[in-house]
This record gives sequence, C-alpha cells and structure tokens, in this order.
Amino acid sequence: MNVRRPRGTNDILPEESRKWQFVEEKIRDICRRFGYQEIRTPIFEHTELFERGIGETTDIVEKEMYTFIDRGDRSITLRPEGTACVVRAFIENKLYAQSLPSKLYYLGPMFRYEKPQAGRYRQFSQFGVEAIGSLDPFLDVEMIILPIELYKACGLSEFHVHINSLGCPKCRGAYRDVLQQQLGTKLDQFCEACQGRISRNPLRVLDCKNSKCQSLVDEIPPITEYLCEECSDHFQQVIQYLDMLGIDYELNPKLVRGFDYYTKTVFEITVPGLGAQNAIGGGGRYDGLVEEIGGKAMPAVGYAVGIDRLLLALEQQNISVFPEQNADVYAAHFGGATKTAAVELVMKLREAGLWVEIDYMDRSLKAQMKSADRFNAAWVVIVGESELEAGKVRVRRMDTGAEEDVELDRLVEYLAAEREG
Ligand code: AMP
Repeated sequence: MNVRRPRGTNDILPEESRKWQFVEEKIRDICRRFGYQEIRTPIFEHTELFERGIGETTDIVEKEMYTFIDRGDRSITLRPEGTACVVRAFIENKLYAQSLPSKLYYLGPMFRYEKPQAGRYRQFSQFGVEAIGSLDPFLDVEMIILPIELYKACGLSEFHVHINSLGCPKCRGAYRDVLQQQLGTKLDQFCEACQGRISRNPLRVLDCKNSKCQSLVDEIPPITEYLCEECSDHFQQVIQYLDMLGIDYELNPKLVRGFDYYTKTVFEITVPGLGAQNAIGGGGRYDGLVEEIGGKAMPAVGYAVGIDRLLLALEQQNISVFPEQNADVYAAHFGGATKTAAVELVMKLREAGLWVEIDYMDRSLKAQMKSADRFNAAWVVIVGESELEAGKVRVRRMDTGAEEDVELDRLVEYLAAEREG
C-alpha cells in the first residue's frame, strides 16, 4: 500500500511546526493585548449554516465546500471559514446576553476544494477575530491594526492595506441595479463566469481577474459614489481613524471579497512576491449576518489571516525571526548502572524545567557527543562509573569545552547558576 496525503494538504514537520508555534504565540499575545478571547468551534457544521451565511451564489458554496451526508443522513460541511461558525456559536450560547461587543478570536484549519498551488491549499489554517454587537468604526480599524501588529511581530515590513465600503443592503441594492444595467449592455464582452455573475451577483464582476472584464469595469462609477449617508459617514470615520493612527492604505473601489455577508467596510492585506496568492488576510463588516443566521439583528466586524500564506511570505522575503531551539543538557552514559543513574538524573533535571536529552540507542560516547552537538546542547553531563562511585558526574560546557566534576545532589543548583551566570 502506498498511501499519500490528499492533494492540497500539507504535513507540517517539526522544523516547520516550530514556526507555526512562534506565530501562534504572537497571535495569543496580540489578542490578549487587544482584549480578544479565544473561541473554539467544531471543524464541521450543518451545511445550511454556510449556505445561508456565506451566500448560495458564492464560489465557496457553489464549488468549494467539502460536504457529505453523515450516517444519520444529515448534510455536514467541513468549515470553509470561521465567521459563520463563530456567529452560530455566539447565538447558540447566548453570548449576546453578556457585555457587548463580544470580542472573539479563533485559530485552526479550514477546508476548501480549490485548485491547489503555492499558497492555495485544500486544508489551510486561519487566525480570525470577530467583534460582534457594535457599529463603532474604530472596531473596523482595530480589525486592520490587529493583523498589522501580527505581521510586524513576525518581521514582515512590506504589505499593503486595500480598503473599500460595500454599503448596506439599501445602497448596495441601488448599485447592483446600476451594475446590472450598465454591464448588461455589454454582456457578450465579459468572460463566461462574469456573464453568469451579472444577473446573479454583479458585484463579483468587479474583482474578476480577467483583464478584459477589468477594463470594462473601469468605466463603471465606484460603489463609494452610491453609498447612503449612514454608510458614507461610517466609511469616512474609518478613514479618519486610519489617518489619525498613521496607517497606510489604498482605497480600492473594486475590492468586494468572496462572501455575500459583508456590509460597509471591507479590506484585504497583500504582500509583494506571492504572485496571484498575494492576500495574506482580509475581512470586513457583516452587519446582517447575526440576523441571517437566526439571532437578533446586530452589527459585527471581523478579519481572517491565512497562516500558511503568512509563513510563505516570510520565507520568500528571507525573514527568520524564529528562535533557535536548543537542548539544555545531554546526558551521556555507558549503559548498566550508569544508565540507571542517568535516567534518574534526566528526570530530575526535566522536573527542574530543563530540556534534557539522553541516548536511547546504546551509542558509543563519541557518538553520544555528536548527538549532543546535533541538539545544540549547552552541557553534556557524562555519567561515568568512577565519577558515580564518588557521587559525582562530569559536566562539560559545550561552548568552551570546559569540564568540571560536580556532586550529583548539587547538579540542578549548579546548572541553574551556570545558566543565570
Ligand atoms: P478568506 O477567508 O477567503 O477571506 O481568506 C482569508 C485569508 O485566508 C486569505 O487572505 C488567505 O491568506 C487565506 N486563504 C484563503 N484561502 C486559502 C487557501 N485555499 N489556502 C491557503 N490560504 C488561504
């Protein structure tokens, strides 16, 4: 049998995994400082949640969901994104009864049946934040600052913020009509996908990658000219906060994003050097989603960062901020009684909080020393017979090569002092 991993999935090996851990630590630290608390929802949900939440005419729902009928005859879908799940949990667990806004974050795998390529996978990980229950434009801005803080903490200095407002159902409806009318007159000049979109979801035509569609769309007035007073005011306030806080951004009237639930502000952050998959995160306001999913009408805003792609961006820009992982101690022994003593010692040192390695392969002392080098151990503790008889072990500092015999019951204390000093 030669079973390989499914297309579009990745094995994250230990060397890579420590980079993930580094990013995850930064995420937790930033969320703590911004006051967002972690929520963990199931990996799979009832299909209906995404159909209603994301929108039935979106690419995700039409083509990309991993949907199956379970043994109880229910239609189940592996979550393709986190927002609908968090909103479902917010309603189901009555988080609205607590103080608002609910400021939540999540971290975990998402699943989309996409065409795999560099930076685009079928299982990928997202970190997302959601603030539910407030219309405050500063929250929209917080959603932009928070990922920027993360990118910076990871060493990324070059990225671009694109921002737009999609209005509310009222003003967007008027814009949809304009789009349908103006685009409809040139229907046959659009790509096949856009020809279908014009009647069903004309806003999606704005961000079609086809250059012919792009130039046709350039002639259309931007959505921001159609915003109602409330949406326009809200967007102005978002912009004012961004200016006040010195955050660079680019107004992009063609930014619509792939979910139907967005209202008012939408944004995306891109990095150079990742080709077509240059978006490392995106989000926006979704003032209608809580009600759509069965809760009371209330505003909300959120954002999601693609972690796989963030790591790819760091790799491509040769950024390595990941701390080295080195063992503290390697315990070398010669088998028999020295192994027994070494095992006891190893456990004592581990209890004291040190990373301690030991030989499990009956290697020669020379091979054990090589092993210690591979772990970059700060010290090798050699448990030899004659030293043991004297109640001692030999401690070798690997950076200087200096050796010293240390009494067994003083070893923890000795290493702690050496570490400090
Ligand atoms: P979205 O949920 O589509 O707004 O995506 C938010 C972020 O998740 C994107 O900016 C990407 O960084 C990442 N992302 C989305 N889809 C994929 C995918 N198929 N593979 C890897 N990362 C993805």
